[in-house]
Amino acid sequence: MSELRFDGKVAIVTGAGQGLGRSHALALAERGAKVVVNDLGGAVDGTGASTGPAADVVELIKKNGGEAVVNADNVATPEGAKAIVQSALDAFGRLDVVVNNAGILRDKSFGKMTVEEWDAVIAVHLRGSFLVSHAAFPHLKEQGYGRIINTSSPSGLFGSFGQANYSAAKMGLVGLTKTLGLEGARANIKVNAIAPVAWTRMTESLLPAEFEARFTPESVSPLVVYLAHESCETSGEVFSVAAGRVARVFVAEGPGWKQENHTVEDIRDNWEAIMTEQPYLTPTTLGQQSGASMKAML
Ligand code: NAD
Repeated sequence: MSELRFDGKVAIVTGAGQGLGRSHALALAERGAKVVVNDLGGAVDGTGASTGPAADVVELIKKNGGEAVVNADNVATPEGAKAIVQSALDAFGRLDVVVNNAGILRDKSFGKMTVEEWDAVIAVHLRGSFLVSHAAFPHLKEQGYGRIINTSSPSGLFGSFGQANYSAAKMGLVGLTKTLGLEGARANIKVNAIAPVAWTRMTESLLPAEFEARFTPESVSPLVVYLAHESCETSGEVFSVAAGRVARVFVAEGPGWKQENHTVEDIRDNWEAIMTEQPYLTPTTLGQQSGASMKAML
């Protein structure tokens, strides 16, 4: 089988100064993509800024024979997001792929979480992915081609103690991925999300030490690169990816229990049937989901 190449294609990778984003940027560049290496260069909690990490990645890409430019704008502001997209157009004249990867943490148990900690995390992950995709969308639509990869997390899909802000942002990205997947379809814009686990500065204090050797950022990037490629026809999906394993994560609905004009007590008395999972449905559109409800009424 032929190698999947990105010659002539241009990619933006946000938060690409280190960790997962760095690995994605290097992997895309290695296959011929011209890359905008965006990174604010702050701490894990989002404070501070430096162009150092992004510049190091660009230097490495160039040393390996690739093409890349540094961008140090903030994904969480409309001006920053527009400037990130503009830097792709200015440097390389087009844009094909957006990898929304930038992220921060402000972990705190829910009762102790401040409004500022909530807002800061939502701003970078959810608003930032919206803003960069929104700035890129008209260009992708006009050329009738694009690939967007959002970075969700198992914390959002399954919940994580102390991460209400982060979980909400990461599950929000699933909704964004699904709707943008539908809206992008006519213009051949495919939108998918990954839910990775990898040893980075963000997780090194949370993961067991033995994870470091196997849960590498490099083990996540092949999926991102595939989802970024023009040959990938999938859209609106979420994939769990870590340490060599890749799996589709889907939202399922149980077969349900039905009784028209039911009472509160009917709900209580039929709770087991309502909670039943098998045989589950996996609607991929709102229409399919409401179609299943309509069918149950017949
Ligand atoms: P990381 O801290 O190494 O990388 C995140 C990068 O984003 C940093 O370089 C940071 O400077 C940059 N960044 C932060 N705010 C920014 C902003 N406003 N604008 C531009 N850049 C900004 O962490 P990582 O583990 O590589 O995380 C990458 C992504 O993967 C994040 O979205 C994270 O939530 C997600 N994720 C990571 C894991 C994991 O196990 N490491 C698991 C699930 C999801």
